Amino acid sequence: MIRNAAILFLGIVVIVICLPAAAVSIGRPPSPRIEPEAEEEPEPAPEPESIKIRFYRTDLDEVVTMDLEEYLVGVVLAEMPSSFEMEALKAQAVAARTYTLKRSRLMGGQGCDNSPEPADICSDSTHCQAWLDPQKKAMDSSAAEADHDLARVRAAVEATAGEVIVYEGHLIEAVYHSTCGGRTESSQAIWSGGPTPYLQDLICPYCSHSPYYRRETLISYETLGEALLKDVAIPAATMAQLPLAVLEETPGGRVGILQVSESKFEGKEIRTLLGLPSTAFTWEHREDGLLFKTHGHGHGVGLCQYGADGAAASGKNYRQILSFYYPGTDIIFTK
Ligand SMILES: [Zn+2]
Ligand SMILES: [Zn+2]
Repeated sequence: MIRNAAILFLGIVVIVICLPAAAVSIGRPPSPRIEPEAEEEPEPAPEPESIKIRFYRTDLDEVVTMDLEEYLVGVVLAEMPSSFEMEALKAQAVAARTYTLKRSRLMGGQGCDNSPEPADICSDSTHCQAWLDPQKKAMDSSAAEADHDLARVRAAVEATAGEVIVYEGHLIEAVYHSTCGGRTESSQAIWSGGPTPYLQDLICPYCSHSPYYRRETLISYETLGEALLKDVAIPAATMAQLPLAVLEETPGGRVGILQVSESKFEGKEIRTLLGLPSTAFTWEHREDGLLFKTHGHGHGVGLCQYGADGAAASGKNYRQILSFYYPGTDIIFTK
């Protein structure tokens, strides 16, 4: 009897203590199984924030915010024939990116003062850099031609994305021009300020295929008199013997100061007044006017665009091209 009572007591203890514990255990979520560590897909690195610029579109008279790399497609499209060698297009893309960032207020630049509201750069080629709306390009050309040109230019910009030119760690003034005509010009011949080490004149053997390599422009004595001698009455008969003399040459061997009769002009002034392609000129008196013989097209400083094309055709890559025209510089990535 006592034995039976003990068994009954034990049975009750088991029911009272163990059942609730079992119930609690059943109510718990199953403990997570410890799996062998699976190789997790690495999180994709966040895309670096693209650089935005404030761009004054002179065609719309409007300042727009634009992705720098997208903007550069329009610059390369406008500034260089898209049929140029791919390495030349890449050199142009890196020069244009550097030129833009050097001006941008984001990088401490002065911005563009041609705009009605604060902007980094404008699309006036005589003020900042030319730019062509890729959509307009598509409208002006056949679809196949526009696609082909745009694809080449886009490839050049993408292949060099983020790359800029620096001298001693600072962005350079990456100026460029169409054709130097055989010798580039030093920056101090065109702009005020002392010499810039990476913008000194050099012999360029690569641009002789340019249509501007050698040009002749005949300016009638009448036009010459109107443009240069407004206040000086020179009898038409003596214009044919009009005395001209180069008083000063630039470091790049171009016309620095020209004396015309009693007046003195800077070479770049003569270029503007007479609409000559460059300040690298000589002249001959002809019966009906002065025949100007010019070398090249543009100010002649920095990268020679036709030269870049010629250098690329001779096997140079864009880095070699840029270090030739901007000696002593390096290419780095912007952050
Ligand atoms: Zn501007
Ligand atoms: Zn050249």
